[in-house]
Amino acid sequence: MESIGILMTKPMYSYLEQELANRFTLFRLWNYPSLRAFSESPHGASVRALVVNTGFTVDAAVINSLPKLEIIATYSVGFDKIDIQECRQSGIRVANTPDVLTDDVADHAVGLALAVLRRITQCDGYVRSGLWKRADFPLTTKFSGKAIGIVGLGRIGSAIAKRVEAFGCKVSYHSRSEKPETGYKYYPNILALASNSEILVISCSLTKETCHIVNRQVIDALGLKGVLINIGRGPHVDEAELVAALAEGRLGGAGLDVFENEPEVREELFGLENLVVTPHIGSDTVETSTKMADLVISNLEAHFLGKPLLTPVI
Ligand code: NAP
Repeated sequence: MESIGILMTKPMYSYLEQELANRFTLFRLWNYPSLRAFSESPHGASVRALVVNTGFTVDAAVINSLPKLEIIATYSVGFDKIDIQECRQSGIRVANTPDVLTDDVADHAVGLALAVLRRITQCDGYVRSGLWKRADFPLTTKFSGKAIGIVGLGRIGSAIAKRVEAFGCKVSYHSRSEKPETGYKYYPNILALASNSEILVISCSLTKETCHIVNRQVIDALGLKGVLINIGRGPHVDEAELVAALAEGRLGGAGLDVFENEPEVREELFGLENLVVTPHIGSDTVETSTKMADLVISNLEAHFLGKPLLTPVI
């Protein structure tokens, strides 16, 4: 497969880059001034696969600029930045990396909730700065036993539910469809779920229906003691409304791994005490990143050998 041209859009994980280079002819888009410059280079017409991650938008212009493109492999489970309709019309396959990252993202959601309620990041600063010698840290808020509302009871949402059950939490959820086999209470709308939750966790996929699914009404329904955790995608939350609610004390706190315009983050967020932020690292462990990379490569190899994709989106 050494002669097959693969275009990688940005450095993601050195192991993935190395393994792709070992097997294919790898082009690195970051070595070119633009996609246009690459597509007009002698290599533009040789690329049969594109490897992307969550930071790269694949639209008709991208697809049209790579005339031999057959498959897009995203190093992520979410494929909200890929125009699936356009790919379908152009006969381009799309593969993602589900399941292998579920545990890490669920772990991180629980970690964020614990960090917000038990103020772990503030405690860390308190010890390091020597403040502990002057006074004990103020009391924090209990996590065990809280009512947790999960928006999107898919692979990751279900793994979060399993984890928080072990903390004695009561789980409810909102998804497109009810899942009676889970035994958790289903709310057909997010507003009712937020009204009945102390912690609302966003783990649904990003579509036009779920963009700003967390709006002012939902934030106010969660209320002054409520905590919002977002490990889905930034645009799920109306961030301007979230900032206002946190600043005005209408929401108890938030833990965010994802942002509306990442990696740009609103500076107003930085001054908020009742907030824990992480740089979209839900699945970023060595163990999981290696499995995701292997899955990207296995999907590409399957495609070029004429075999079924392991984890097809389309
Ligand atoms: P999944 O198994 O496909 O689950 C997606 C869930 O979203 C499903 O429960 C689905 O409901 C729900 N959903 C879709 N449209 C909805 C709507 N209009 N209203 C309410 N719920 C809706 O995907 P997953 O593997 O759990 O991943 C979920 C998302 O997590 C990904 O799409 C990605 O954006 C995000 N993610 C983030 C990180 C990170 O690093 N922070 C890492 C991995 C993934 P039904 O069950 O009813 O269909």
